[in-house]
Amino acid sequence: MTQTPSIVDRIRDNTTGRVPFSVEFYPPRTEAEEDRLWRTAREFEQLHPAFVSITYGAGGSTRDRTVRVTGKIAEQTTLLPVAHLTAVSHSVDELRAMVGAYADRGISNVLVLRGDPPGDPLGEWTKHPDGVEYAEELVRLVRDLGDFHVGVASFPEGHHRSPDLDHDTEYLVAKLRAGAEYSITQMFFDIDDYLRLRDRVVALDPEQGAKPIIPEIMPITSLRSVRRMVELSGSKLPRTLEERLTAAAGDGPTEDRAAVREAGIEFATTMGERLIAEGAPSLHFITLNFARATCEVLENLGIAPARLAQ
Ligand SMILES: Cc1cc2nc3c(=O)[nH]c(=O)nc-3n(C[C@H](O)[C@H](O)[C@H](O)COP(=O)(O)OP(=O)(O)OC[C@H]3O[C@@H](n4cnc5c(N)ncnc54)[C@H](O)[C@@H]3O)c2cc1C
Repeated sequence: MTQTPSIVDRIRDNTTGRVPFSVEFYPPRTEAEEDRLWRTAREFEQLHPAFVSITYGAGGSTRDRTVRVTGKIAEQTTLLPVAHLTAVSHSVDELRAMVGAYADRGISNVLVLRGDPPGDPLGEWTKHPDGVEYAEELVRLVRDLGDFHVGVASFPEGHHRSPDLDHDTEYLVAKLRAGAEYSITQMFFDIDDYLRLRDRVVALDPEQGAKPIIPEIMPITSLRSVRRMVELSGSKLPRTLEERLTAAAGDGPTEDRAAVREAGIEFATTMGERLIAEGAPSLHFITLNFARATCEVLENLGIAPARLAQ
């Protein structure tokens, strides 16, 4: 396997004088979406993100697309890809084969996740009879398979299945102790939730607490879609933000997308500013495979030159 830089090295060796950033893509479902993804990837390429991560779906065809797209990013761009991998509906043998497929394409950075039940993310989780129960086991499995750099998920508001925040922190620390080098958070909107998560991890295990917790930012461009994303992930929109977005959306039959977008970008910019001030190691953006909203936030934060946000 060709060794590529680890995410932690990429963040630590950043010499731009600005906080590093990264972006998340999803595997495109149609040719038009695929064209858009490559245009978006080329735009971000000019901004030198620390890495790009590619999500992993529940069905066979979407999984094949994740492997293909992640491989193409590794082979045909200067971007450093991080492949997501989930345990959903996979036996351990299949998980090993997926990791092998990533390795064959020169991908050594993997974001290891348990995933959610297909169809109903908030429904009951059932492990594959020959699979793994928790992401922690998958971290060990991937690490045992070779020289992989593993990241995991963390949850500033606590994972919706965790009984409380202390248990949630324990399980995160267990994944880090199992060999994960960093975590990327679920999207959140209250910076204090992120800061408290960071404090809890440091208090529980200072060694693991030194590993980067990379905050994920969602530049909101549609009230309808953010409500749906929040519902599916079991997180929450703070009341003041909801009120601000609802006011921007207006009373018309369809939401005022331009006003919602403006409020969303302003909010994401404020989040980025505060996270940078609080010493966040880098910023990870959900892009939905579009460049513009994220580029505007990056420009506002002084991370991207203005011309690319146009
Ligand atoms: C940055 C990021 C990227 C994501 N990308 C994807 C993606 O590409 N595809 C996708 O399908 N989903 C993705 N997800 C969603 C993720 O798969 C779900 O949130 C899932 O429900 C939790 O995954 P996990 O890896 O945190 O699971 P785990 O760490 O296994 O945790 C699952 C639940 O079990 C609890 N738990 C953990 N260990 C134990 C234990 N030993 N005993 C008892 N309880 C325990 C945890 O607290 C949690 O409640 C992503 C999430 C994030 C934050």
